[in-house]
Amino acid sequence: MARRYSGNMNGERYLANTNTKEVHDLDNENNNCQIDEIIAAGHDMPYNSLDEAQNDGYDNGHYCIGNSER
Ligand SMILES: [Zn+2]
Repeated sequence: MARRYSGNMNGERYLANTNTKEVHDLDNENNNCQIDEIIAAGHDMPYNSLDEAQNDGYDNGHYCIGNSER
């Protein structure tokens, strides 16, 4: 698993899914995150900080971050 340089991503650590409103940690990626599918669908939004993504209303990804607030 690695950071991405495709879609809207340019090596950022966090990828938010604008469709499900969940944010993923690419340094702790799990197959269940389906990151490549998110990018292929054009739902990827890059973030360098988890706080920033959460402030924008994204919830923690269940598999890579945990402690979902929903
Ligand atoms: Zn994830």
